[in-house]
Amino acid sequence: MADIIQLLPDHVANQIAAGEVVQRPASVVKELLENAIDAGADSIKLIIKDAGKTLVQVIDNGKGMSHTDARLSFERHATSKIRNAEDLFQLHTKGFRGEALASIAAIAHVELKTKQPEDEVGNCLVIEGSNVVSQDVVVTPTGTSVSVKNLFFNIPARRNFLKSEAVELRHVIDELHRVALAHPNTAFAMYNNGSETFNLPISNYRQRIVNIFGIKTNEKLVPVEEDTEVVKIYGFIGKPEYAKKTRGEQYFFVNNRFIKSAYLNHAVASAFEGLLKNGTHASYFLNLSVNPQTIDINIHPTKTEIKFDDEHTLYALLRSAVKHSLGQFNIAPVLDFERDPNLDTPYSYKSSTANAPKIEVDRSFNPFKSEPKFSDRQMAAFKSTPNNWDSLYVGIESKENGSEQDFSEVHFESEEKAASMFQNDNEVETANTTYQLHNKYIVSTIKSGMLVIDQHRAHERVLYEEFLQNLTIHAVTSQQLLFPLQLHFSSQDISIVNQLKDDLEHTGFVFSNIEDGTVEITGVPVGVPESEVSIILEQLISDVENEVPDSNFSATDLLAKSMAKSLAIKTGQSLKKDEQEHLVNKLFACKEPNMSPTNRTTFVTMSVDELDKKFI
Ligand code: ADP
Ligand code: MG
Repeated sequence: MADIIQLLPDHVANQIAAGEVVQRPASVVKELLENAIDAGADSIKLIIKDAGKTLVQVIDNGKGMSHTDARLSFERHATSKIRNAEDLFQLHTKGFRGEALASIAAIAHVELKTKQPEDEVGNCLVIEGSNVVSQDVVVTPTGTSVSVKNLFFNIPARRNFLKSEAVELRHVIDELHRVALAHPNTAFAMYNNGSETFNLPISNYRQRIVNIFGIKTNEKLVPVEEDTEVVKIYGFIGKPEYAKKTRGEQYFFVNNRFIKSAYLNHAVASAFEGLLKNGTHASYFLNLSVNPQTIDINIHPTKTEIKFDDEHTLYALLRSAVKHSLGQFNIAPVLDFERDPNLDTPYSYKSSTANAPKIEVDRSFNPFKSEPKFSDRQMAAFKSTPNNWDSLYVGIESKENGSEQDFSEVHFESEEKAASMFQNDNEVETANTTYQLHNKYIVSTIKSGMLVIDQHRAHERVLYEEFLQNLTIHAVTSQQLLFPLQLHFSSQDISIVNQLKDDLEHTGFVFSNIEDGTVEITGVPVGVPESEVSIILEQLISDVENEVPDSNFSATDLLAKSMAKSLAIKTGQSLKKDEQEHLVNKLFACKEPNMSPTNRTTFVTMSVDELDKKFI
C-alpha cells in the first residue's frame, strides 16, 4: 500500500495550534499584553471594539522589532525568549513558546507596526489567515502596535461560539487586571468602543489595586510580607469583614505571572479559618517570588497553572505569612464602642438581641401519677395552634413585629423624609393628586411644587430594599407550588444557580433538585407568579454572567437587584389611583428613594418658581 502520512502545511498546523492558544478575544489580549511587557514597555494601550470581536489592538512603547524579526515573529516556534530546553527553567519572560503571533495570524486579520529606538522608520506588516499581504516601511513611534481584526473570520464555528459582548468584555477585563496587577510599574489604558474604561498610571502596588477595584478597596487591604530563602511573599489580603460570596478578587502571581492554584488558595483560606462567615471568600493579591529553577510553567498551554518543586513548604510559609498579617493588624473581631449606629447597615439583624430560651419545670410533675391525656397547658397550646400554622406558612406576620424595632431607625428616618416632602400638604390633597402620565410617570403635588416619579424605577427601588432586607435577615417567605416546576438550563447556567442557591432560598425559592441541566422548584417567593419564575432565573443568570466585577459586587446585592428588575411594574402599565399612591408612599419609605438600584433617578421635582419662570 502506498504511504499515506504527510506533513501538514504550516497554515493548517497554525490553525490547529490556534485552537489551543486562542479561545476568545481575551486570549488575544493576554498574549499581546504579555508580549508588550516582555518588550520592556512601561506604557501599554489596549484598544478594543465590540468586546474584541471586531478589534483588539495593543500599542506599546517597548523595544520594537527589526525588519527581519517583524516577519519572523509570525512563524511558528519563532521566539527571541529561549534558545534551548534549559532556558525553560530560567524564564524571566511571559512568553517562550513562540506560537502566539503565528496562531493569531492564522485566524484573524493582523497588522503589525513596529520600530526600534535606534531606527528612523519602522515596518508595517499585514497578514491575513497566515498569508503575508504586505510588508512596508512606515513612519511609526518607537515600540509596537499589533491590531487583530475579525477574530475567527475563517472559522465561523468558533466565531459563533463566542458569548455575548458583555461576557467577552468581562474576560478581556479580567485579563487586563491580571497583567496590570502583576506590573504596577507599567501604565495601562484601555478603550472600549472609543471610550476609556481604565486608566492605570504607574504606581505602587496598593494604588494599582485601588485604581482597579475602586477607592473603597483601600481600607480593606492588609499588607502581607515575608522574606525567606524559598520564597518572597509580598502583597495584600482583604480584611475578613469584606469577604465576598464569589471568588472574584483572588490573585496569585508567581514571578509576576498570574497563576491559579487550588492548593495555595487553600493555604490562604486556612489562615482565615474562623474569621470568615460561611460561604464567603477572602480577597487576596499575593505575589510570590521564587527561583525560576524551582518551578515548571510548561504544563499548560495557556499557562495559568504551574508546578512547584516544594509545594508543601510554600503552603506552610504562605499560610503563616497570612496568619501573621491577620494577627499583626489586629483583624480578630473587636467590639467598637465608638461606632455610630446610624452608619451601620440597616439590613441586618445586628441590633437585635437573642431571646434566651426559657426552661420551665413543672414542679408538681409526678412521673408515677397517671395523668389525663392533655394537661391544661397542652390544651391551651393545642388551641393556639392555628395561629402558629399561619406563622409557619408565611413568616411575614411573625417577622413584622420583631423586625419593626430592628428597622425603626430606617422607618423613622424615611418617615421624616417623606414628611418634610409633603409637609403642609394635607393628606387629602396628596392622596387626591396623583396622576399617571403616559402609563409611565406618576405626577403628584408637593409643598414646593410638583413631583414626577418614574414608576418602573420607583418600584424597582422599593422591591430592591425589600429583597435585600429579606436576604440579609433570612426571613423566608415562601409559597408552595402545587406541582414542582421544572426548568432547563445549560450546565454553565446550572453552576450559577448552584452558586446562588443559598441566597435564592433566602428569598423564598425552594429547590428540590438541581442536576443535569434541570432545576426543580417546589416553592417560590410570596408574590412571585409562577409564570415569571423562569424569566427571573434567566435574568439573574445573565446578570451574574455579565456582572463586570466592581468593588461593590456582592451576590446578595446582585440577586436583589436582578429580582427587583424582573418584578418591578413595567413602563406602559396602567396603575389605579390606590396603586399609584401606594407606590409613592412605599418609595418615600425607602432608605434611598432618590435612586433606582442601578443608580438612576427615580423622581424629579419642579418648584413653583421654576414653573413660574416658564410662564414669563
Ligand atoms: P513568544 O512571546 O512566546 O516568544 P510570540 O509569538 O508571542 O511568542 O512572539 C514571537 C516573538 O515576536 C517574540 O519572541 C518577540 O521577539 C517578538 N515580539 C512579539 N511581540 C512583540 C512586541 N510587542 N515588541 C517586541 N517584540 C515582540
Ligand atoms: Mg508571546
